[in-house]
Amino acid sequence: MRLLAKGSKMYSILFNKCPKCHIGNFWTTNNPLKNMLLNTKYTCQTCENCSLVYELEIGFWYGSMYVSYAISVAVMMLFWTLTSVFFPLINIFSEILIIVIAILLASPLNYHISRLVWINFFIKYTPDDTY
Ligand SMILES: [Zn+2]
Repeated sequence: MRLLAKGSKMYSILFNKCPKCHIGNFWTTNNPLKNMLLNTKYTCQTCENCSLVYELEIGFWYGSMYVSYAISVAVMMLFWTLTSVFFPLINIFSEILIIVIAILLASPLNYHISRLVWINFFIKYTPDDTY
């Protein structure tokens, strides 16, 4: 359970917490669909606890597209494997359609997670009460 304990990167990513203090929220809401559709209104700019500015530099979030791409490829491989195993006689176009639908349905969660993963590459957990 140490993997999900406070202080680990997974804690920040899975529980939507600031990567520095693990107390404040990264997104103002835990609903990925809201975050994606109402991005400007619901993205936290700074941590309410430690005042960390989340956008470390201009264009910082472009890097999260690499994470998003990796997650998308993982979802594609998962659904390709699942359709191949459970429906071995499926038409290739139907298989592609299933994969595209899965990617589209997973995109709000992908967007939500990819920014958290990206910022966790750069910010270390620093527990400190002197904020
Ligand atoms: Zn914080």
